[in-house]
Amino acid sequence: MEVDVIDLRSDTVTLPTEAMRDAMRDAPVGDDVYGEDPTVQALQQRLGKDLGFEAALFVPSGTQSNLLALLAHCERGDEYLVGMDAHTFKWEGGGAAVLGSIQPQPVVQLADGRLPLDQVAASVKPIDPHFARTRLLVLENTWNGRALPLEYLESAHDVARAHGLSLHLDGARLFNAAVDRGVSARQICRYFDSVSICLSKGLGAPVGSVLLGSRVLIDKARRWRKVTGGGWRQAGMLAAAGIHALDHHVERLAEDHARARRLAEGLSGLPELGEVSHHTNMVFAALPLERQRALATHLASHGVKIGVGYLPSLRLVTHLGIDDAAIERSLEAFRSFFLGAGASAQRFGTG
Ligand SMILES: *Cc1c(COP(=O)(O)O)cnc(C)c1O
Repeated sequence: MEVDVIDLRSDTVTLPTEAMRDAMRDAPVGDDVYGEDPTVQALQQRLGKDLGFEAALFVPSGTQSNLLALLAHCERGDEYLVGMDAHTFKWEGGGAAVLGSIQPQPVVQLADGRLPLDQVAASVKPIDPHFARTRLLVLENTWNGRALPLEYLESAHDVARAHGLSLHLDGARLFNAAVDRGVSARQICRYFDSVSICLSKGLGAPVGSVLLGSRVLIDKARRWRKVTGGGWRQAGMLAAAGIHALDHHVERLAEDHARARRLAEGLSGLPELGEVSHHTNMVFAALPLERQRALATHLASHGVKIGVGYLPSLRLVTHLGIDDAAIERSLEAFRSFFLGAGASAQRFGTG
């Protein structure tokens, strides 16, 4: 019998549930370039209402959503302030520079992902022909699983406003942050002029992100979506998956967070692994790269997949496809690597 592979690489690997597939198949659809797909409209209206924005735009990916936000907020020769390790700076192919002639001004982040606000303020350029025009502050929440405190968001908002900047949130995992902080996603969004959320991460939809903002901003973003080739037609089948995810997969994120905690507890104390930490649905553990590779090979032979090569520490991610049994099976596989096959059963018991 085939044993299910346990995939801890990312929460992007989730597969649509049967109920989600039913919702997709049954969705009423139309041509969204004409604004005639009722399910896309429903998704956009629902998220706008839930998160407190005038308008919303359903797009294929988080990368495109963030790009459209940058293109809508900034013009050629403008710049945005962004964390040195932020997705919108480091992991999106430099799209804003390539396609918008928009310059990023990175700010070194603290270990918890915050951008020091004195550095933010100091990075704003004077209005002078020598300089790019600083227009926008971009934050990310969660960042490497870490949910930013609301007080920080409020202070960041105040600093940005004091310097005439708009604020964009890369909220790929906004709902993880909300569940972790015990606040509504809307409470996080109120500090921002625009927010991008991913439906295809922990929420478990196969495709899609949504950009939220004012009607004026979203109209600009819609035009840029067309320019970048992202106008789509009967996208309601995908929007239906997003609506289903919002109805059924938000509160359950708490389960992913609890399983990440359980995984971290089980890993801490294993030889070789440095400090093990967990934040929302992610677990991090320091391990030299070459040992990461050996570990990945060992785990693969036990049906457990981990990602290697992008980060200096292991990153393990829990999601819809990881249940309690998968956590225990994964821990067994980790123990057999670090402790040897016999030791794992002996020292920790198998019950
Ligand atoms: C995944 C992710 C994105 C981009 O989403 P894609 O759909 O992969 O393009 C943006 N920001 C963060 C923080 C992400 O994790």
